Amino acid sequence: MMLDSNDPRAPRAAQPAPLNAERMQALLDYSGDILSLMDREGRLLYNSPAAQRLHGFAPEEFEGRSTFDFIHPDDASQVGETFQKCLTHPGLPVRVRYRYARKEGGWIWMEAIGVNMLDTPSISAVVVNSRDITDRVEAENAVRQSESHFRALFNHMAQGFALCRLVYKDGVADDFIYVEVNQSFTELTGLKNVVGRRVSEVVPGIREADPDMLERYERVVRTGLPERFEVYRSALKLWFSISVYRPMPGHFAAIFDVINERKQAEEERSQLERQLSQSQKMDSLGSLAGGVAHDMNNVLGSILMLASAHEAMERPDSPAQQAFATITKACQRGGDMVRRLLGLARHDLSEVKLLNLNALVLEEVLLLERTTLAQVRFSLDLTDDLRPIRGDSAALVHALMNLCVNAIDAMPHGGTLTLRTRNAEPGWIELEVVDSGIGMPREVLDKAMDPFFTTKSHGKGTGLGLSMVYNTMKAHGGTLAIESETGRGTRVLVRLPSCEGEEPEDAAPTPSRQEGEGRSLDVLLVDDDELIRDSIGPVLRAQGHRVVLVGSGEEALDRMNRGSSPDVVILDMNMPGLGGRGTLPRIRSLQPDVPVLLATGRAGPDALELSRAFTGVTLLPKPINASDLKAYLDTLQARPDR
Ligand code: ADP
Ligand code: MG
Repeated sequence: MMLDSNDPRAPRAAQPAPLNAERMQALLDYSGDILSLMDREGRLLYNSPAAQRLHGFAPEEFEGRSTFDFIHPDDASQVGETFQKCLTHPGLPVRVRYRYARKEGGWIWMEAIGVNMLDTPSISAVVVNSRDITDRVEAENAVRQSESHFRALFNHMAQGFALCRLVYKDGVADDFIYVEVNQSFTELTGLKNVVGRRVSEVVPGIREADPDMLERYERVVRTGLPERFEVYRSALKLWFSISVYRPMPGHFAAIFDVINERKQAEEERSQLERQLSQSQKMDSLGSLAGGVAHDMNNVLGSILMLASAHEAMERPDSPAQQAFATITKACQRGGDMVRRLLGLARHDLSEVKLLNLNALVLEEVLLLERTTLAQVRFSLDLTDDLRPIRGDSAALVHALMNLCVNAIDAMPHGGTLTLRTRNAEPGWIELEVVDSGIGMPREVLDKAMDPFFTTKSHGKGTGLGLSMVYNTMKAHGGTLAIESETGRGTRVLVRLPSCEGEEPEDAAPTPSRQEGEGRSLDVLLVDDDELIRDSIGPVLRAQGHRVVLVGSGEEALDRMNRGSSPDVVILDMNMPGLGGRGTLPRIRSLQPDVPVLLATGRAGPDALELSRAFTGVTLLPKPINASDLKAYLDTLQARPDR
């Protein structure tokens, strides 16, 4: 058979033998590892050139020295032991790590593998391969160090951590096993020795109590997408906020916080908000009721006036007298109902006292701090010597609460709520409620105080907060101003009249019920309601007085300007135009000492203030009863100077 020259079976050109002396020498010379031969005492018989490249020592520097002299003292004993083991176990490779000196100072990490070949006559040496592993050791040290850092972090982090492995049954996630947990896990949950155990065993009933739990964890393990949720574990009585991610296949890691305090604060706060919105509804209902009551008062007043007057005129025990007595009683009962309705309307300050606004602010802040998430910071700047004010603390606290809730609502992502009080010019104090929230655009700011204006969702806002605050401040003779810009927060400025060194005043004197001699008086009756004029007028005339009826303050003043000087003025508080408030001072300037009966359905701040501001003014609560009116007029008649 002929062989082609391309045939692989054809003989090749002569090649050097695989391992000839030159090749052996090349291996020794260029090996990156140090290849050496040692005698029984550890003296070097041969060191390959890598030694000088790694350590810097020339072969002659080893002369007469043991190679062990170059080993780090801390590693010497271990190297010695390993060498002994090598000597006693011919043919068995031994391995050791140590630090070896460098000529220029410092150490390099080496790993040596030695084999005892002393008994092989042609070799008769320990054969050693030593390698520079400095980089590896340093990397290992770095890893170890960072691992211990992470371990410390892991155990000291405030959040609980659990690494878990899902357990499947018939291809469905059925349970999980705790693989690793940190200290906070144990501290927060109170669960001990959980590693290696199933959750169904650690927290019995958890799968039934939270049927979605496994599905959630399975989803994270399947998709690798982290999830975050809040869950209540009734078995532990704890609320958790949990972040879950997938650190490795088949596993999930949960980092969690216990948020019972926050949940409780949220709950308390939403309850407070519910109460507040309830009370706002009540208040608007109240103002509605107040309006109805006001008109009803006049209706009742006219009936009461005529009925009581006729009751007094009719023959005792006659059927007519009894009928009028019944009407009078019915009216009085109606009057009681009206008063209760008026009580619903918040506009009258139910209890006016001298008080310190700082105390109310502190009370409010304490309440809110307990119920507001930590992200809202309260900052108080209260003037120590704040002048007292006269006011209704319940109404003021309510107003303050409205302002604070608005501020907190405006800071969903946290911020600072500042409450500031200070003395303004004499006779005034100021309260500032400042938030760093979302602020208001112009259109919102313009409408903010309107009743029922809200930008909040149904059920959250009623739009009555600011209008109530406004009413309350107005009722206190104060003012309310709001400054705001989108994104720049809001500043609400309240100004209230202060009263330094003021003594509580006595209630207006009540007329005595003594019957006077019966002098005829000139009475000027000022009321816009025809029913009142038509009922009181005839009664007064029947009592022997001369009565002039007018429908407005302006008309009354007009008459007095033209020379009429009544003995007494019955002035209705609520009238269009000047009203009682505008008319009274003018009456006083025309006729400084004419007695005035100020008729009002509610002893509101305006009426109270007016009755205090001027002498000779008596409050006459509506509906007016003929006998009360008579009793009062009788006291006037009894006065010698009139
Ligand atoms: P409600 O709070 O029920 O909406 P309010 O009368 O208290 O009713 O407030 C009316 C509107 O004014 C709010 O809906 C809001 O848009 C705006 N507002 C009130 N206070 C603030 C504030 N501090 N920051 C931003 N907007 C506010
Ligand atoms: Mg509000």
